[in-house]
Amino acid sequence: MKNFAFVNARSLEEAVGHLAALGPQAYVVAGATNVMVDIRDGKRNDKTLVNIRGIDALRGIRMEGALVWVGALTTIAEIGASELIKGHAPALYMAAQVFADPTTRNSATIGGNLIKASAGGDTLPPLMVMEADVHVKSARGERALPICDIFTGLGKTRVEPDELVTHFTFAPQPHTAFMKMGQRKSMAISVCTAAAYATVDGEGRVTDCRIALGAVASTPVRASAAEKALLGIKVDDEGAYEAMYGAVQGDINPRPHSVRASVEYRRQIVPVLVKRAVRRAALGDCGPRVQP
Ligand SMILES: Cc1cc2nc3c(=O)[nH]c(=O)nc-3n(C[C@H](O)[C@H](O)[C@H](O)COP(=O)(O)OP(=O)(O)OC[C@H]3O[C@@H](n4cnc5c(N)ncnc54)[C@H](O)[C@@H]3O)c2cc1C
Repeated sequence: MKNFAFVNARSLEEAVGHLAALGPQAYVVAGATNVMVDIRDGKRNDKTLVNIRGIDALRGIRMEGALVWVGALTTIAEIGASELIKGHAPALYMAAQVFADPTTRNSATIGGNLIKASAGGDTLPPLMVMEADVHVKSARGERALPICDIFTGLGKTRVEPDELVTHFTFAPQPHTAFMKMGQRKSMAISVCTAAAYATVDGEGRVTDCRIALGAVASTPVRASAAEKALLGIKVDDEGAYEAMYGAVQGDINPRPHSVRASVEYRRQIVPVLVKRAVRRAALGDCGPRVQP
């Protein structure tokens, strides 16, 4: 570890003030689970770390009017223990259960997971099927960005360097689910993930559907071709998913030479995870699942 400075921001205003004054020199620290690795690897030399962990206004899970409000500093452990999230955003709740290990979950934050913008970030597909808004603040003002438009490339988002993610909002969506395929049942980095929002009519036919996938392209992706192929099918009819199996291939672009899985394996496993996530979303079944 070498050559970096450190400032403690005690309020939101102080934090955005530091970001404005330091410019590209600033580097926000939340749970530090990614930041510590970067520092160890010498990737943050000559930066000023701006610690935001003491800002209580960035924490919490609550209803604000008709919307669920989740602060950027809320930890994955808090999300995974929240009855409000379990009832109103089961996909996010399920993702929190299978995220890393308890120690990492106690530090890692949802805001850090967004800005890390890993293709396999576990909270990202759930937030995408709920069409969450990401709220950011800078010395220039505040704005809300739709999460589905926020990722611009591997590790890159539309959030500007002087902007702090403050919170997420989304409408309650009980019919969501999340599936993660890893190489083992815990501490698994995603081979592939799928989140689904699905509603069905009295006959069990899909009336509305949103799918988002992780670790199958350079960013998390919405699977619009799969969504179209799923509309109208009966969720408990195994054969009805066949059209989706082909369609979803156009939604993904797995990177070659991945150490965790081949392109072919990911292409085969994605539709299976989508099918399972859709069924569980439609049925309201939100127990944790990692498929080893
Ligand atoms: C052992 C281990 C296991 C892991 N397992 C998983 C896993 O299973 N699933 C998974 O998705 N990830 C995993 N990760 C990655 C990491 O834990 C997550 O990405 C985590 O959510 C990052 O949150 P953090 O609060 O620690 O972020 P930090 O490390 O503090 O920051 C990460 C990035 O976000 C920026 N940032 C943080 N908060 C804000 C904010 N409010 N506004 C603007 N910028 C901000 C920082 O500047 C930095 O660029 C793992 C990491 C480790 C070390």
